[in-house]
Amino acid sequence: MTNKIITDQLVHYAKRAYNRGLVGGTGGNFSARTGDQRMLITASGLSLGDTSSDNLIDMDITSYQWKPNEDYVPSKEYLFHADILRLRSDVDAVLHIHPPYATAYAVLKRDIPMVTDAAFKQPPTPRVPFAPSGTEELQKNVVQAIENHPDCKVVLLEQHGIICLGSTIRWAYDIADMTEELARIAWLQEMLCGSSFKPLRP
Ligand SMILES: [Zn+2]
Repeated sequence: MTNKIITDQLVHYAKRAYNRGLVGGTGGNFSARTGDQRMLITASGLSLGDTSSDNLIDMDITSYQWKPNEDYVPSKEYLFHADILRLRSDVDAVLHIHPPYATAYAVLKRDIPMVTDAAFKQPPTPRVPFAPSGTEELQKNVVQAIENHPDCKVVLLEQHGIICLGSTIRWAYDIADMTEELARIAWLQEMLCGSSFKPLRP
């Protein structure tokens, strides 16, 4: 896949995540692998809805060095984006967002209850202990979760949001959208029946 296609997809799905309400304000960040050692990542201080081919940042995933791009700098979460792409050869895109229902469970330090057919098919979703955004402590906590759950597709950041790991940019978006749907259904189910209801897995 050419860098032009990767860029176009990253811009398209970053805007879509914002327009879908999976993140608000200038929150969230999206990265995609462009080669063995490089990624494109969205810029700091910009809404995902304002992502364009001009404000993406090209970064080395081992040295964290980036190519200067006018006044734009990479999202402050570049540390865990680069580490995930380095650690997981099956992952080509990483989307971090704050979708309200999934994040509400993360705030409560609870796993998202897996209550539907789609949920039963998901691998375990590890929870990452809270650390302030953009810090090496958060990077360390995320890396530990990824290493402990080498097949995970979603990571819950306590009191923060979620990270979705996709084999493609589109798949990272779809996982994010689906995870928020699962959390929303789980929340509605709890509103109707209370958290003591435990649906049986088939
Ligand atoms: Zn965040």
